[in-house]
Amino acid sequence: MIRNCSPPGKPGLAAHAAARRYGHRCSPRRPAAPTPVLTAASIPDAISLSTLTLRPGRERSLQQRHPWIFSGSIATIEGTPAAGDTVAILAADGTRMALAGYSPKSQISARVWSFDIHAVIDAKFFAQRVLHAVETRAHGVTDGTGGRLLHGEADGLPGVVADRYGDVVVLQLTSAGAERWRKSIAEALAAATGARCVFERSDAEVRTLEGLPPRCGAIIGSLPEQVTFVEHGLAYRVDVALGQKTGFYLDQRDNRCLVRRHANGKRVLNAFCYTGGFTLAALAGHARAVVSIDSSADALTLARENIARNPTLVPAQAEWIEGDVFFELRRLRNDGATFDFIVLDPPKFAPTAAHVQRAARAYKDINLLAFKLLAPGGLLATFSCSGAVSADLFQKIVAGAAVDARADTTIVQRLSASADHPVALHFPEGDYLKGLLIRKS
Ligand code: SAH
Repeated sequence: MIRNCSPPGKPGLAAHAAARRYGHRCSPRRPAAPTPVLTAASIPDAISLSTLTLRPGRERSLQQRHPWIFSGSIATIEGTPAAGDTVAILAADGTRMALAGYSPKSQISARVWSFDIHAVIDAKFFAQRVLHAVETRAHGVTDGTGGRLLHGEADGLPGVVADRYGDVVVLQLTSAGAERWRKSIAEALAAATGARCVFERSDAEVRTLEGLPPRCGAIIGSLPEQVTFVEHGLAYRVDVALGQKTGFYLDQRDNRCLVRRHANGKRVLNAFCYTGGFTLAALAGHARAVVSIDSSADALTLARENIARNPTLVPAQAEWIEGDVFFELRRLRNDGATFDFIVLDPPKFAPTAAHVQRAARAYKDINLLAFKLLAPGGLLATFSCSGAVSADLFQKIVAGAAVDARADTTIVQRLSASADHPVALHFPEGDYLKGLLIRKS
């Protein structure tokens, strides 16, 4: 089944557009090796590959194992590579540096598959990378039957994300190179996991930058009527066909656990609740009551259903508000409401660096309101998934909000994405999700 998908995922600042929380790019986890001095002519298989030769001095980022080659750093292209073809990347002096997937329409013209210049980029290569990533996760990274299996550059697979929900794997491809190996990657995922369905959610907006159309549908098997998974003993249903991202925010798993640990007896506010992840976690942690806000009616319907799925949770302790968080926080404040624990997990306010200023104002606004709504001694778990907003900047914004709210605050803990969303040290762009657990005096 191949069809166009509904507008994807994460509603943005003003409207429910397609803002997505992405950040899955980290360079491949290959052992560091000295850059081999070989020229294209000295390697037989190089003859069959087109080559991209870099401008002088532009090889530095590749030497540091950053996996992207920007169009502006390319001096010449030899051969006539098509979108998705594997190309050899040469330094200006002809030294062969890496093998990469070619994206002619994108500003990121190529993404490295391997720094091993002798590697053969074929179905077997992808099977090995997929198996390695899946096996790594098998060692206690997740708790339950859901988790991220492939996390882009951090798993040596730029443009590839895969999430598991029970026996369904959801695959998302966002680069021309990844698109070329779609079938091989899907088959490798099925083989490595035993999943009965590999479902594609390749409808992220970034695909348009690659000249790729949106594509959703089962690649292997068929999608069961209901997809469910378990996390920390709680059952969730996931709308993998139409939900945001691949259907669920697996990156917040560890933070849901943290909320659960701190929730006992508290009155909790969960802003931007989506399908109720933090709400269920708080209720499981014996929160007294949880108020949850989201502007998506569909997400709230599923959130309610998720509570009903877990007989130990008491639906009456959950209150749902369909509305705009910016407005609802003000309304709650005007009503004199207070909370002991607030979670702010907004969509990506800054899709690019150009949006940072506007995003900073939005982050400050909701954090300021949260500090005002927080009772003395209360906790705030506040997040940003904007890659363009650094952890440092985010902390400054939140600090500014606390000052304006006249709140004395301390950072109890710094928060990040769950361990199955690893970050490669030489690809800091991959470190997109940052959070702070803050106590108000
Ligand atoms: N915390 C969630 C993920 C949040 S994703 C989890 O752990 O599952 C961001 C959510 O914000 C989406 O569900 C989206 O519908 C919602 N949203 C975006 N802009 C909004 C706004 N202005 N007001 C209320 N909800 C909004």
